[in-house]
Amino acid sequence: MVLKRICDLSQDKEKKPLELIEMNRPVPGEKEILVKVSVCGVCHTELDEIEGRTPPPRFPIVLGHQAVGRVEERGPGSTMFKTGDRVGVAWIYSACGVCPSCLSGNENLCDDFKATGRDADGGYAEYMTVKEDFAYSIPPVFTDAEAAPLLCAGAIGYRSMKLARIAPEGNLGLTGFGASAHLVMKMVKHRYPRMKVYVFARSGEERMFALELGAAWAGDTEEESPVKLDAVIDTTPVWRPIVEALKNLEKGGRLVINAIRKEPIDKESLLQLDYAAHLWWEKEIKSVANVTRSDVREFLQLAAGIPIKPEVREYNLEDANRALLEIKDKKIRGAKVLRVS
Ligand SMILES: [Zn+2]
Ligand SMILES: [Zn+2]
Repeated sequence: MVLKRICDLSQDKEKKPLELIEMNRPVPGEKEILVKVSVCGVCHTELDEIEGRTPPPRFPIVLGHQAVGRVEERGPGSTMFKTGDRVGVAWIYSACGVCPSCLSGNENLCDDFKATGRDADGGYAEYMTVKEDFAYSIPPVFTDAEAAPLLCAGAIGYRSMKLARIAPEGNLGLTGFGASAHLVMKMVKHRYPRMKVYVFARSGEERMFALELGAAWAGDTEEESPVKLDAVIDTTPVWRPIVEALKNLEKGGRLVINAIRKEPIDKESLLQLDYAAHLWWEKEIKSVANVTRSDVREFLQLAAGIPIKPEVREYNLEDANRALLEIKDKKIRGAKVLRVS
């Protein structure tokens, strides 16, 4: 399923941004592996690519950065995996490895960061290639479909939790309750049983889902939480929840924005930002940029040990457009996964 051009999904009547085509099987290069893809997760970031907020540098491009499959073939010098091994590929496709960011453990901030399914063909296809040291073994406790959302939604949720720097008995807010937030909730329930989670979501279905998973409280975006929050993780694609979240923060609290891009639709709500209500008392805003390989590895280990299993909804590869539009229309419950083979 390839993207051939940027499109505006709110204007496009057809609403079929991706097209099913036949492509040549890619050939693994030096220290690369060829992966026969079994499933690939669907992420809101694909909409950011399709609509041009984080555009691919070339077309056509195969999207998808939560791929799980088996090693089909090894390129020259590739030794880390055997043929048939199960591997996952995440958003980080490569980083330079020699710049100050890479050398200090922040390869997510590398100037030469390449993203799977944006800067290189990703997992919405039967085959893909990747450098072997940017692929991960998948713990046996997960099915392929369960593992896929852990590679992005889970890993970035884990990174967001690290950046939130919240105490184990703190009050955590989550704005939006899609794939990433629901995995943060599952992680918190197991790892920090004394932490209370407050969920803000537009859709009643998402709020119900949050309460089922153990949220202390769930309300609409504009509601005031019953207590002030030590940290809030925002996983929405829009701006209004940022202003609302700052209002609910405790003194010295931190808002972590987990989104590659924000949509422009409600940007004017930022004008409601009031210094006294939203920023005073040393409140902080921190964005989450990409993920590192250690985020992915650490989260896979943590999730396997507990185990944290995502709630998954499966679609056929050909139905990728439908799955993406459901995310666009906020029909989200759990994580969406495409079945490739
Ligand atoms: Zn993603
Ligand atoms: Zn680098």
